[in-house]
Amino acid sequence: MGILTSVKQLGFSDIALLLLFSATILSQPVQARSGAHRAAEQALGVKIVLDRIVPDTWQLSNYQPAGFGGETDAYLQILQTEFAKYPPGFLRRAHVSTIALARNYHFNGNHQAAMPDPCSGVLYLAIDGAHGIDSSHYLIHVMHHELNHMTEYAIWQDQYYKWPAWAALSPGFQYGDGGITAYSDTGTDYYSFVHPRPGFLNLYSMTGQEEDRSEIMAVLLTDEERPELIAICKKDAAMRKKVDLLNRLMQDFAEDLGGFPHLAAVSSECIGNSVGQ
Ligand SMILES: [Zn+2]
Repeated sequence: MGILTSVKQLGFSDIALLLLFSATILSQPVQARSGAHRAAEQALGVKIVLDRIVPDTWQLSNYQPAGFGGETDAYLQILQTEFAKYPPGFLRRAHVSTIALARNYHFNGNHQAAMPDPCSGVLYLAIDGAHGIDSSHYLIHVMHHELNHMTEYAIWQDQYYKWPAWAALSPGFQYGDGGITAYSDTGTDYYSFVHPRPGFLNLYSMTGQEEDRSEIMAVLLTDEERPELIAICKKDAAMRKKVDLLNRLMQDFAEDLGGFPHLAAVSSECIGNSVGQ
């Protein structure tokens, strides 16, 4: 049934409602606002949900959907650019089937910028960051950090895997009780790259192996932050070994996707030919 036929069969109040509905739809830039959304979904090969709540495995997420609009579109463009650094198919390989874009994201009462849910294949990302920090390089860091948690689960079926080869790079060192430690200790700066000891970027890296690797991966892939890692690598053989090991792990993981050329390139910017020296 065509739209003209439909209108002929409607009463006055129906037509008024129809006009009101049309006016509401037309007043919003439908094409413009969904273009970035569609483009990002197509480029990344995953579903991106921004207009409703996606339940998580533990039912502990509390947030508002990012919604449509310029701020979400700007975020989607950054997301697309950053995840294009991975080989095509990488997100699916890392068991990410859905990215849920949020505002004011809380998990179990903690205000946080993101949450990986590898059990259901959902990566929650807050477009407004957390605790008032929403600079683009912070948001970019978070994207790569959280994706690394998903990747590790896909590799080891364990988000908190204790990798013997990794532990061997920091002999005698005992990690803390995981990233959760930092949420309850708000008086300490866990995130600045203070290089607290050889092989570690910041205090957050010392809370758990999985956070250590996710921080290095994030800094490697965040263009604005990588110079700090390059500077640390120049004087820290343990850090060079970690970058090298992480790069080799990811090249193996992505081998049949054609490898991970971007990571290989940025790793070699950091370690050159000097691994282990
Ligand atoms: Zn983490």
